[in-house]
This record gives sequence, C-alpha cells and structure tokens, in this order.
Amino acid sequence: MDLEKLKKDALEVEDKIVQIRRKIHEYPELSYKEYNTAKLVADTLRELGLEVKVGVGLPTAVVGTLRASKPGKVVALRADMDALPVEEMTDLPYKSKVKGVMHACGHDAHVAMLLGAAMLLVKNKDMLSGEVRFLFQPAEEDGGLGGAKPMIEAGVMDGVDYVFGLHVFTKYPAGVFATRKGPLMATPDAFKIRVHGKGGHGSAPHETVDPIYISLLIANAIYGIPSRQIDPVQPFVISITSIHSGTKDNIIPDDAVMEGTIRSLDEGVRKKALSYMEKIVESICGIYNAECKVEFVQDVYPITVNDPEVTEEVMKVLSDISKVEETEPVLGAEDFSRFLQKAKGTYIFLGARDEVSGCVYPNHSSRFCIDESVLKLGALAHAALAITFTNKK
Ligand SMILES: [Zn+2]
Ligand SMILES: [Zn+2]
Repeated sequence: MDLEKLKKDALEVEDKIVQIRRKIHEYPELSYKEYNTAKLVADTLRELGLEVKVGVGLPTAVVGTLRASKPGKVVALRADMDALPVEEMTDLPYKSKVKGVMHACGHDAHVAMLLGAAMLLVKNKDMLSGEVRFLFQPAEEDGGLGGAKPMIEAGVMDGVDYVFGLHVFTKYPAGVFATRKGPLMATPDAFKIRVHGKGGHGSAPHETVDPIYISLLIANAIYGIPSRQIDPVQPFVISITSIHSGTKDNIIPDDAVMEGTIRSLDEGVRKKALSYMEKIVESICGIYNAECKVEFVQDVYPITVNDPEVTEEVMKVLSDISKVEETEPVLGAEDFSRFLQKAKGTYIFLGARDEVSGCVYPNHSSRFCIDESVLKLGALAHAALAITFTNKK
C-alpha cells in the first residue's frame, strides 16, 4: 500500500467530505427515517461507479460494493446514519434546520468519512484485492432492534472476512484513534419490575401488601448484586432510574413499577446478574405475598468485542496515519457488535475534541460538535484498513 499517495488523495477529497457532512448535518433524520441521507449516499456511490443496493433489510439501508481486479478477502466497512431527538444549541453556520432533531452523535461524520473512503478506494483501486462492501446502516440509536440486525438477516455479511467501523468521540483529542483488544462496549439490558400488592389505608399497613415497601427491599437487594455477587474487577453497573407508585399520603397503593439499566462487558457476568435479579424479586415478593414480574427488554445489543489479533494489526496500520491510544472499555452500547459476531474486526473511536473551537461537549449533548479536520483521517483509516485486509493471505 502506498500510504503517502493515499494521504495526498485524502487532502484532495477533504473539502468534498466536509461539504457532505455539513449537508447531512443540516438535515438530520431520526432512526429508520434516513430517507434523504440514504438517497445522498446511494447517489454518491453510483456516481463513483459502485454497485449500489438500497433497502437491504430496511428501507433506508444502503450497501455499496467495490470489486478489485485481483482476487482477495472481503472487507466490510460500516457507517451509521441516524440522528437524535435533540434540539441543536450550537452556533454553527450549518446547524440543524430540522426542529428537535440533531446529529448529536456524529453519525453525519461517519457517513461522510465512509463516502470519502469510497472516493479514495475508487481512485486507488489498483491497491485493492477482493471486495469492499460499504454498509450504510440506519437506526443505530434505536437501542432495541437497530439497523444492523435486519441488514445481517438480508445477507450483507455473507462471505465477509473482516469488518471495521469508526465512531467520532469528543472524549479524545482530535485525530487520536482509540481502541482496544477484546470487549470495548457494553450490552445494555433494560429492566422493568412490576410489584402488585394490595392497597389500603396508610394507618393500617398490616392489612395491606405494601408495594412501596416491597419495592424498597427489592431496590436495596438489587444494589447488592454489583457489590456482593459480581467480581469487583469486572466493569458492571446497575442503575434503578425510575420508581412510580401511589397518589396520596394516606393511601397505600396496589402497584409499584421500577425501571433501570444493567451494563456489563462479559456475557457470564451479565447472565449471573439477570438471574440474581429474578431470584431477588421472586424471593422478596414471595415473603410478602406480592405478585411480581421482572421484564427484560429482548434483543438488546450484544457486547462489542474486538478481535485481538486483527486489532493488533489495525493499531499498527492506524499508527502510520495518526496517534493511536489503547482505551479503557466504555459502558455505552453499539449494534456494530452484531457485525462483529459475523466476522473478525475492530471498532475504533476517533477523537474529535477541540478546545479552540469549543468542541468539548459529549456525544448526545445539544452542543456537541467535532473538529472537522478529523474527517479526512477517518476516510483514510477506512481506506487503509480495506487495502490492508483485502490483501491478506
Ligand atoms: Zn449515540
Ligand atoms: Zn453514535
């Protein structure tokens, strides 16, 4: 791979990438509704001469294919496309023109960087072998079904040897690539606990089955899971984030409902925690004769696990482009994890923080912004990984 040539070409397409990103930023679209973004993506890929399919698993999913003349491996590169229900509070000239919707997680940058990579790879097709598949995915922010699963079911990962994805992140300085071998991001189990008791007068609790008292016992016992059941060196969180019950000072209500989230980085730890939670609820409710139910949201995003060997090599490739840091895992979640269950690969954070321009707010903030100089680095990284891994023996 002639990296110097790629770097030169990246500077040439930089302005195009920035303009694409700004255009998408101005007209953000929520999960499953990325129609205009998908059209822009498909049009750009067709102009570049790629084979393009729209509506792969979901109406707004787009897949572009670039085949090299030499045989080789199949590499998939993924960008998510959806925005968030956030009212943008920045003063950017290209700030969102859609009320209450904003690209507050940088997925506009992801689309632009991957289109930039397509430009670079078309220009330098002689460096490629095999096939590159560009996956433009809807609905990463959905958190439930998400866009990755229907795309995989539609066959986008069939025959793929390696898969890579990038996420801009203001936690790291602009231009720094951060990743790690093994688990990188968590699985987000959401739970709801329903406690059905028997209401009555606040002055005679002995004649009731008090769902509030029972909920407090359950909450206390649940908070014992991280401190008493899970290995303290494992990253793990349980948070109860809502408790609803009752109407008035002298009434013991019939029902209480608690909700919360569990984040873990290890499937064994996760299963243990979910099973303890069920046991706790069953036991405490059994003692007090309440009818209780624990519901977990089905089909949550799996743990994002980077392949250790591939990631080692990825870090080497990236270190020729910019600074690379080994990062700690984060307890956020990603449905890129589903692609990683189908092929070896790496998910990479790309630092986009810049104090001078005030881009210091976290992802999902209404003031979130990025240092746009990182866009060409992202495009370059995608392209360099595609070249390296399609040429693998
Ligand atoms: Zn996000
Ligand atoms: Zn995101």
